[in-house]
Amino acid sequence: MTQSANAPASPDQGDRPNLLDLSFHQLEDFVTRLGEPPFRARQVWQWLWQKGAASPLEMTNLSKEMRARLDESAVIRLPVISKQLQSSDGTIKLLLDLGEGVGIETVLIPEKTHYTQCLSSQAGCAMACTFCRTGQMGLTRNLTHGEILGQILVARTVLASLDTKLSLRNLVFMGMGEPLLNYNNLLQSLESLHHPQGLDFSSRRVTVSTVGIVPGILEFGRAGLGALAVSLHAPDQALREKLMPKAAKALPLDKLLEVLKKIPLKPRENITFEYVLLGGVNDSPQQARDLVRILSHVKGKVNLIAYNASPGLPYDAPSPEAVEAFQKILWDKGITVTLRKSKGRDIFAACGQLLAASADE
Ligand code: SF4
Repeated sequence: MTQSANAPASPDQGDRPNLLDLSFHQLEDFVTRLGEPPFRARQVWQWLWQKGAASPLEMTNLSKEMRARLDESAVIRLPVISKQLQSSDGTIKLLLDLGEGVGIETVLIPEKTHYTQCLSSQAGCAMACTFCRTGQMGLTRNLTHGEILGQILVARTVLASLDTKLSLRNLVFMGMGEPLLNYNNLLQSLESLHHPQGLDFSSRRVTVSTVGIVPGILEFGRAGLGALAVSLHAPDQALREKLMPKAAKALPLDKLLEVLKKIPLKPRENITFEYVLLGGVNDSPQQARDLVRILSHVKGKVNLIAYNASPGLPYDAPSPEAVEAFQKILWDKGITVTLRKSKGRDIFAACGQLLAASADE
């Protein structure tokens, strides 16, 4: 395990807007107001999202005058790494400082051919799921466009400093927060992600995970900007209310499944159902059979996650035998099921754990 920290944000940034918070069209308006033709926005956009400029003064294919005007009227403010941990399995967890005491987490998970990054969409979370440390913190605030996508820029810098050939290829919105409760900034971020002169991620490489929020889930499902994952975690309403009280009461399980049937899916697309196996709570063979039954009319696959016990939360990890038996019942009934390996166990890689541990220090 390693730890490091980068430099703190400059305090001298006043009320100037953060260029990373602007969508491409907002950036076009911004450069037009500075007296420049709109096409200059494309150059600035490339400097921000492809070349990693830390200041407008670095944008050397712009005139000196334009660089100076940009520098006077805007800043480039990235999240700052306050803690970096690397697990023995290669998982990297970053605790990021957004200023004014607001912190978030992002995790980089090495796969065979690439890294997957788990992004946060909010600082804290209002949903209060009882197995999640972020849920115990409550919501601090929504993240901006620049704070959501800035996590990717920070991650790329970290990966560039490592001795690895793997690049960042997949993004999952499964970090802190409920993405669909920060819908406008999420949508704007997803649109920016796909910009060919910017970060240029294919929508097939982006997954948004939600507990199920209406109308956002339908709007997102119809927008085609990424794959949908739904946090289910229980095969019946009563248990879901215990595990995810706010989400389950706001949108009961039967209604959630009805909504999901309305989401248009292309022939090879599926909805992913996330199911965290909690020892002795939702991991019995009967519950696996109940899960098969409720998913029988939805085009979906199941992603099982063996819970990492977290200090202060009343749940245990499932036994390996229970995990295997649960998975087998789903397989035998024809459901595509994957078991997500619990990576980064030694660095608190589950949602909200690092930030909570650091608050406890
Ligand atoms: S599991 Fe997700 S939605 Fe639930 S409290 Fe944690 S961050 Fe929020």
